[in-house]
Amino acid sequence: MKSNSGNEAQAAQLSDRLEIAKVYQYWRKMLTSPMITVGWRKIKYSPHTETRLLVINAALEEINQMTERNGFTIRMQKVFWTGLGPNALVTTSCFSATKLKKWTIDIEEHHPLGALMDLNIIDTNGMSISRKDTHIQPRTCMVCQKDIYTCRRGKPHSHQEYLAAINELILRERFGQYDTER
Ligand SMILES: [Zn+2]
Repeated sequence: MKSNSGNEAQAAQLSDRLEIAKVYQYWRKMLTSPMITVGWRKIKYSPHTETRLLVINAALEEINQMTERNGFTIRMQKVFWTGLGPNALVTTSCFSATKLKKWTIDIEEHHPLGALMDLNIIDTNGMSISRKDTHIQPRTCMVCQKDIYTCRRGKPHSHQEYLAAINELILRERFGQYDTER
């Protein structure tokens, strides 16, 4: 049986997503270049605010470096808070949504905390660019490394398994100054 706190967490997650969607909608109207949305990966686990902040900051730092490495500049960067924690929006001087998508997939796949990041690209028409559009494999499950769709459908992992996987990622990369999840 599911505990009450589980249901509350689900409700909080849903309202968090609705809040985020509203912010995106607002910014979408003013887009002159594709937007990178930065968030916590959608998994069956809501982390502490500190953990979310750690992941968002790492993502922003990496996006900044990636932009510079490729000869572009950051045009706008906005961090906003919803009920569960921080999210961010970034626009750069790069006008190719496909190029940006490839860069962000690279971050999700290769950054030490990439498995916890959710980086999306919204083009100037307000359309989200999917991995399929760029002919890149779907993400793998952070617990068992299988195809994410299989795990999302079957829901084979417990809260504790997600927690352990998150802690391992954080500890492995020795972000020792931050508390791990409990
Ligand atoms: Zn799995």
